[in-house]
Amino acid sequence: MWTLVVNCGSSSLKFALLDPSSGEVPLSGLAERLGSDLASVRVDRGGERVSVPLPGGSYPEAFGVLLAELDALGLRSEVGAVGHRVVHGGERFSAPALVTPEVLDAIRACVPLAPLHNPANLAGIEAAQEAFPGLPHVAVFDTAFHQTMPEVAYRYAVPEEWYTQHGVRRYGFHGTSHAYVAGEAARMLGRDFPDLNLVTAHLGNGCSVTAVQGGRSVDTSMGLTPLEGVVMGTRSGDVDPGLHDYLARQAGLSLTQITATLNRESGLLGLSGLTNDMRELEEAAARGHEGARLAVEIFVYRLAKSVAGMAVALGRLDGLVFTGGIGENSATVRGATLARLGLLGFKVDEAANARAVRGRAGIITTPDSVPALVVNTNEELMIARETQSVVAGEL
Ligand code: AMP
Repeated sequence: MWTLVVNCGSSSLKFALLDPSSGEVPLSGLAERLGSDLASVRVDRGGERVSVPLPGGSYPEAFGVLLAELDALGLRSEVGAVGHRVVHGGERFSAPALVTPEVLDAIRACVPLAPLHNPANLAGIEAAQEAFPGLPHVAVFDTAFHQTMPEVAYRYAVPEEWYTQHGVRRYGFHGTSHAYVAGEAARMLGRDFPDLNLVTAHLGNGCSVTAVQGGRSVDTSMGLTPLEGVVMGTRSGDVDPGLHDYLARQAGLSLTQITATLNRESGLLGLSGLTNDMRELEEAAARGHEGARLAVEIFVYRLAKSVAGMAVALGRLDGLVFTGGIGENSATVRGATLARLGLLGFKVDEAANARAVRGRAGIITTPDSVPALVVNTNEELMIARETQSVVAGEL
């Protein structure tokens, strides 16, 4: 039975039709700029790519294109379930959930924690329910994997009422990716989960690092929001919380302006003054661009510190996993990070590291090293599998 995986952003809708067992994807696509005159859907029919203009179209029209594509493939009646990526499940969701009116209310209750993402996820679920009324819909949460973190990892050193009354604690994100690559890494290492301690580094436009003990998240670098932790494409990662008051007084900026700048104009982009794109930064650094060089160096330094911190959560480190666009492609970032982590027992194999790009996964350290691996993440496949498990009553 095919599973449809849906990921709705504020003006975008990403979809993929998958076989959760084989991973086969006969249809996928991305609708962008929804709600504007420039709205369009790019469809990939298993290799053949077309673009469908959709001026003024929103989620319902985008689902209309998807339904027509399913009809053309004769697969509409073969879809067994729809899995939805939902960013924030708060403390309520530690596992995927079958969408019911009560679950929708609970996702709505998490809107204050993810005001940009959860409303779009909700609107996407509702539009999908109209497009696929007879099917089970399952919500898969980015935060759920991290609900196993112990209190020592998830509490901030702030007054208890902030936690009990306002939910101020660390939640973590990218859970689907961390869970998936940890499982793949265990398989590649030929190890069983119960006694395996891994650090997983998801390095894409957003970046986070997770300590995974026996297949469970025990600490992660993102917190109440996805702004905490390591340096990212446009997000700052950790800064002094005193910065807000200081900048408000010195530069007359509002809290909203400061937060927007920390989210959208900081990180690699802010440091380099050039771009948030790691590939372009590496090229610019090689040409002698000082801002680009510094941005990559700070990215690596903070990443290595975060990985070393996660080793504390684990007690013993059995492997480090790199994934995401940067983790899967940048031998430079991986090599420089491992070079800073010699104290944890990492020794990079330069040739293996250089080979592990563009979809080639593998171990990139020498045989006498603690292993570091490149694993290609596949959040769609993980969402499809979890959706299937919920529908089958296994979760
Ligand atoms: P993602 O959000 O997972 O798609 O990752 C996006 C990030 O991956 C961007 O910073 C890209 O520049 C980076 N990336 C993709 N390919 C490469 C590459 N060949 N070398 C360095 N960075 C890359």
